[in-house]
Amino acid sequence: MFKKITFTGLILFCLAMSVLAQRVQPQKVGKPVQLERPVKLNQAILVQDPVRMCVDRYPSTGNFPPRDNSQVQPPPRINADGTVPSVGVTRQPLAGETMKMWNPGQVIGVYLSTNNGSELIRQKVITYAKKWETIANIKFSFTNNINDAQIKVEFSDDNRSWSWIGRDVLFNPLGFYTMHFGWFDSNTKETEFKKTILHEFGHALGFIHEHQSPANNIQWNKPEVYKYYAGPPNNWSGIEVDINLFAKYNAGSTNSSRYDPKSIMHYSIDKGLTLDGFTVGVNYDFSPMDITFARQVYPFPFKPGNSSGLLQTGDDCDMVDFTVEYDVVASDKIEFILELGKRNNVAVTWWKQISIPLRNNRKQELWVQNHSLIASENLTWTNALINVNDLDKANGIAFWKAKAFGVHTLLGYRWNVLSALPGGSRVRLVWKNDSCR
Ligand SMILES: [Zn+2]
Repeated sequence: MFKKITFTGLILFCLAMSVLAQRVQPQKVGKPVQLERPVKLNQAILVQDPVRMCVDRYPSTGNFPPRDNSQVQPPPRINADGTVPSVGVTRQPLAGETMKMWNPGQVIGVYLSTNNGSELIRQKVITYAKKWETIANIKFSFTNNINDAQIKVEFSDDNRSWSWIGRDVLFNPLGFYTMHFGWFDSNTKETEFKKTILHEFGHALGFIHEHQSPANNIQWNKPEVYKYYAGPPNNWSGIEVDINLFAKYNAGSTNSSRYDPKSIMHYSIDKGLTLDGFTVGVNYDFSPMDITFARQVYPFPFKPGNSSGLLQTGDDCDMVDFTVEYDVVASDKIEFILELGKRNNVAVTWWKQISIPLRNNRKQELWVQNHSLIASENLTWTNALINVNDLDKANGIAFWKAKAFGVHTLLGYRWNVLSALPGGSRVRLVWKNDSCR
């Protein structure tokens, strides 16, 4: 009984789709569309039963720009002697990468139609869409200008929901809506908002239905399924059943290497349609595997540990400790710190300076000294925050110190490190030795 109710609506909808595809959204012929429909399984629970159906499953090929992973590349390594290898930048592997997924770190514009729905519903969409930002390195930027948005969301009361898949929305020259919510109203439960919005925005990020993962081993009771769908009012051919229920994605475009019945991208399965009584309940939230996989395909920037080591200017046994911390200041800035230090309990004295090259032949100079008899002229620690774009990365940091008779002397050594410093870094230099004692 339940399963008949469950699938009757779906089949009716499927049969209507060829009409809808022509009449409502003619540009979507050939476009992958995810269709969902809430189905009443019993009197107590209204269950969304998302099924991929009447969809061109075959992914577009060759049209997608390559994914750009530059946002998550680690910064170049800095050796302990301060040298920067000219090669050896490593890339983070991206397990399960698929063509339709966005670039890690990408900001995706989202427009929410104000034609239907309510402000409350739009706020729910924003709230739950942004949950994806916590597990995937992606940002949704909600805009009031539909032309600024790649994801264009409409609301309706037609009792169905769907979304285009990932970067398919880049091929939408006529500006059609790409996501559709059809059963939200003032009575919608919070759990219904949550699971539906998470699910549709999962499609928008390129995730497919988990039940079509090649990794699943659902023991469909195929004769029952064929029989059920062949009968009125559905009248599906065996091929239609094959395509919409049994066919699976190839491994290159699926969600994960392991089947995950707890995925937010899975739909519920009535046990009457499986041989072994296998059933899948309603998933209301990200599963642990959803979280793991989202982080794999949308990795957050690689955060290396600190780099540190010792610089030797070659003058008078100079020793300068350096430490580079990452992601500790604003991403468009780099902080430089210069300190007078000590070695074997002997403090470095007198005047020291570094000169950081900036564009247009400018410099940012940082100096420290402790020799003045006037306390206010002494400074054993100083810092500067410099815009990354102001740095002249073709040149190195220069070192100065007071030599005999206090003459401020430019040393020959240059620390060619600027090209290895990503925005957000803090570089600390502690001049701890300046004589060959
Ligand atoms: Zn779906």
